[in-house]
Amino acid sequence: MKLRVVVLGAGFGGLELTTILSEKMGDRLDLTLIDQNDTFFFGYSKFDVMFGRKPADAVKISYSSMVKPGVKFRKETITHIDPVLKVITTKNEKYEADVLVVALGADYDMNATPGLAEGANQFYTFKGAEELREILPGFTKGRAIIGVCSAPFKCPPAPSECALLMHDYLTRRGIREACEISLVMPFGSPIPPSPDSSKALIKAFAERNINFIPNRKVSSIDSSKKVAILDDGSTMPFDLFLGVPKHVAPEVVLKSGMTEKGWIPVDKKNLKTKYPGVYAIGDVTSVGTPKAGVFAEGAAKIAADSIMAEANGDQSSSIYSGAGTCYIEFGGGKIGRVDVDFFSAPHPFGSHTDASKALVAEKEHFGTSRKARWFGL
Ligand SMILES: Cc1cc2nc3c(=O)[nH]c(=O)nc-3n(C[C@H](O)[C@H](O)[C@H](O)COP(=O)(O)OP(=O)(O)OC[C@H]3O[C@@H](n4cnc5c(N)ncnc54)[C@H](O)[C@@H]3O)c2cc1C
Repeated sequence: MKLRVVVLGAGFGGLELTTILSEKMGDRLDLTLIDQNDTFFFGYSKFDVMFGRKPADAVKISYSSMVKPGVKFRKETITHIDPVLKVITTKNEKYEADVLVVALGADYDMNATPGLAEGANQFYTFKGAEELREILPGFTKGRAIIGVCSAPFKCPPAPSECALLMHDYLTRRGIREACEISLVMPFGSPIPPSPDSSKALIKAFAERNINFIPNRKVSSIDSSKKVAILDDGSTMPFDLFLGVPKHVAPEVVLKSGMTEKGWIPVDKKNLKTKYPGVYAIGDVTSVGTPKAGVFAEGAAKIAADSIMAEANGDQSSSIYSGAGTCYIEFGGGKIGRVDVDFFSAPHPFGSHTDASKALVAEKEHFGTSRKARWFGL
């Protein structure tokens, strides 16, 4: 009998888990991978789109390229998850699973920050990045704010990267002197687990005259006055607001009853939920790592090991380490790297590698190797 695995979400976590199971189980596997979209894109490709470095179509990868033994991809919207019976309902079908993996990522609540949806922009959705590509050329002078509205948020270095890339973009257009850039962040430093990466970023902000405002969130926006109101009541006028919206689990996950305090709790050793035969990986969980693709991918490996071991009547000995590597765009054609271990005692620990042109090639390889592994491209 084939093992019926249903994977919800074909992002970083879902793609990696599907790839491993297909490679290792082959014809013993009957895996259905469901996603509402027909294309995948890397989170960081939103910078390519918004700053006009690449057209939108160039960063999208069609799921139709993913041909793997034992795997069926279904482009469907999931409308109901029953974690007890392991039955999934989409707008088109019902699926029954022996093993269910929830990898549905994080969504955004644009209405949680009054004014964000009306008078401001955000760069965390693909649509938001596409809109900004049209809006940015019209910004010629004044104040730009990159503002985080809530934590946790995906890819903690991304707002810092946005500020540094904005500096390059405005410099290229010869209007940097006419513009101010401010970055509002809810943390005391740009990347708290890595003091060295934080120090390097703060130095880069100072060199570029980027105003870094730590320990603050944007709580609302007065779009008629073009003012951002921070969580201490202070105000910041702006001409361009680039927001990081509040993150939430997708509605279908919230309605499934699987969440506690907004996210799915899992056993951090093996990514099992409290429901037998049901795993959750990546941004949708509260596992204790940041919401980033590398961590979703690391979790996928451990969940896949456990699924395969249990299919053989065994227990997996792999334990999730909560470690991962993130690349940080410093601008000027240079990329830095932070290697972080989130489960190390007594607290998370990150080591920093200075920004260089050599790391540009390493980040490029990060993307191309996944494209090859997941899509055969
Ligand atoms: C600007 C930016 C830069 C980033 N840079 C990096 C980086 O450099 N490195 C890094 O590691 N991470 C980066 N990230 C974060 C990274 O993109 C995410 O953390 C990662 O994609 C999470 O993987 P996941 O598998 O948990 O979820 P996702 O990749 O978000 O996948 C979830 C999937 O579920 C699908 N889905 C959701 N709801 C439904 C439904 N009801 N029905 C059907 N399908 C559904 C979605 O369509 C999606 O494809 C960045 C993010 C942003 C916004």
